[in-house]
Amino acid sequence: MFRQLKSSMRCGKYEARLEDYFQGADDLELSQHLSQCADCRAALERSRLGGELLRAAWEPVGEPQSAFLAGVMARIREEKARAESPAAFWNPLEFLASRLSLSAAALLLALSVYMVGFGPRRAPSLPPSAGSELRAADFPQPPGDPESNDEVFQSLVETDNGN
Ligand SMILES: [Zn+2]
Repeated sequence: MFRQLKSSMRCGKYEARLEDYFQGADDLELSQHLSQCADCRAALERSRLGGELLRAAWEPVGEPQSAFLAGVMARIREEKARAESPAAFWNPLEFLASRLSLSAAALLLALSVYMVGFGPRRAPSLPPSAGSELRAADFPQPPGDPESNDEVFQSLVETDNGN
């Protein structure tokens, strides 16, 4: 009884050092005490087991979480950079535009070469603009509204009366 009490009192002194010892700190006094005290060995074992459990609980979650966090952080940085500098946002578009204008310039060059070669011969063969006006007149006119129909009827009645 007395021995146990004395032991636990001694252990109280080491209790705080157990964690450091568990973390890998050199503590000769504590290691000597551990070789004699089953309670502290048990405590160390518990903390080791607890640490393993804690690590086991954290590691499977820790890896994807950090990857997820890294992804989120990357996206936040991306958004921030985009918000802070509009030029950064337009860069891909500018690249695309420069590519487009390059191909457009190439197309224009090819077209101008074509125009210089065949332009004068093709220019007079353009259809006259008058054709479209004639075609518009060929369409059947929409039927008149009821008022004009009444007028036509009225004029017919009047001509009948006149006869
Ligand atoms: Zn002890």
